[in-house]
Amino acid sequence: MSADLTRLTAADLAARLSSGEVLSVEATQAHLDRIAAVDADVHAFLHVNAGALDAAADVDRRRAAGEQLGELAGVPLAIKDVLVTTDMPSTSGSRILEGYLSPYDATVVSRSRAAGLIPLGKTNMDEFAMGSSTEHSAFGPTHNPWDLDRIPGGSGGGSAAAVAAFEAPLALGSDTGGSIRQPAHVTGTVGMKPTYGGVSRFGAIALASSLDQVGPVSRTVLDSALLHDVIGGHDPHDSTSLSDTWPSFAAAAREGATGAALRGLRVGVISELPDSGFQAGVSASFRAALALLEAHGAEIVDISAPHFEYGVAAYYLILPAEASSNLAKFDSVRFGLRVDVPGGTVEDVMAVTRDAGFGEEVKRRIILGTYALSAGYYDAYYGSAQKVRTLIQRDFDAAFEKVDVIATPSAPTTAFRLGEKIDDPLQMYLNDVTTIPANLAGVPGISIPSGLAEEDGMPVGIQFLAPAREDARLYRVGAGLEALLVDQWGGPLLDKAPALGTEGRAL
Ligand code: GLN
Repeated sequence: MSADLTRLTAADLAARLSSGEVLSVEATQAHLDRIAAVDADVHAFLHVNAGALDAAADVDRRRAAGEQLGELAGVPLAIKDVLVTTDMPSTSGSRILEGYLSPYDATVVSRSRAAGLIPLGKTNMDEFAMGSSTEHSAFGPTHNPWDLDRIPGGSGGGSAAAVAAFEAPLALGSDTGGSIRQPAHVTGTVGMKPTYGGVSRFGAIALASSLDQVGPVSRTVLDSALLHDVIGGHDPHDSTSLSDTWPSFAAAAREGATGAALRGLRVGVISELPDSGFQAGVSASFRAALALLEAHGAEIVDISAPHFEYGVAAYYLILPAEASSNLAKFDSVRFGLRVDVPGGTVEDVMAVTRDAGFGEEVKRRIILGTYALSAGYYDAYYGSAQKVRTLIQRDFDAAFEKVDVIATPSAPTTAFRLGEKIDDPLQMYLNDVTTIPANLAGVPGISIPSGLAEEDGMPVGIQFLAPAREDARLYRVGAGLEALLVDQWGGPLLDKAPALGTEGRAL
């Protein structure tokens, strides 16, 4: 019974909870058992919530008393450690925040709790969300459940691995340049970066404030939509939060699953994206997904986005600039770690604390960022990067005159091996070539599994991008393609993953 509950989608589990067939304490216990069984190997979690069963019992009690509960009430949820929580430490993957307890919950967390979701724990991530492999976590890497020797993507590798390993049906992530979508791509899960401003950033430990967006991670498109409905919408605590009224994303996903959205859909493919930069199996899976869309009534249109490929370069000036400023608050006084220097000045304590508390990648980006912002270089670096950002936004505007969505592979390769790129920051940065432009332009993007790469049997994702505020379109299109693919595969892609604990794999 226990094991089966962890295999259900969030929507299916929610239905069983609401009919009374399953109690939230049973579902929560099943996931805690699963975490206890596999997480020593996967290391998706930095902290498991000791209060999870109490929260579940509370939902069960309220349901039994006839209270009207949200659709996801009683469903367990994993939370990326970038999101602050009052009852669990929030470290953002950094030593400098080890053991830090926030006096408030991030808005997405308080909304999830209010909707009756059960926080299972905090998930591992690259330090301050800087990375594509979760190897930059100060607390050791997360392992890809498909192959424990491979990376789970990053920075939100913990959330994606937790969902792929059936440790949680749903997770929250954050995406500044791809940290929801690229982990989804390499773990065979679904990840959605909402429109900038569509989901509150209040209580998300800032990396680059003009790029950061919080979003859902799940095993199906509908599940992401259900969670997005819970966390989205205006928040007065976030000054960049949009005041729009959003449609039901779950309704969009359900409608999309009928395939209706695919007929006449114009899907743009960027002609400047060279096939050569992509692993053969990634390109093959992408082309096959496009062919499937075409066979079901979509029109594939070549579009030009000449500045798309400069996204990585612009991003690695804008992001470090904003990050160096955001991270200045970790000054040994206000938050977390303080390393005392007997007889030292305040500056000495600050310097020694920051040296001890920050990892290499964080230091690299602080140095890059302060350099790019320094007098004499500001216009040449930061100013130029901002101009490129505008050009990318204009490319998107022009493209969306001609097409409804843009499709790309979600990342250039499948999951690489742990350690393979850790000493080569540039190779690590290039992972995000297809995801970064959406953050620079503020548009929404979703990654859904498109198949397995023939050469290594690892999962591959396809990314869809839509104009700002058209998140519902992505759920419609994503659910449409997902239904066709699952039909073709004879079941969800994750069913093809070798089970943890079998075939000689450690458990
Ligand atoms: N991998 C990218 C980076 O290292 C994206 C990170 C993110 O989206 N948080 O910055």
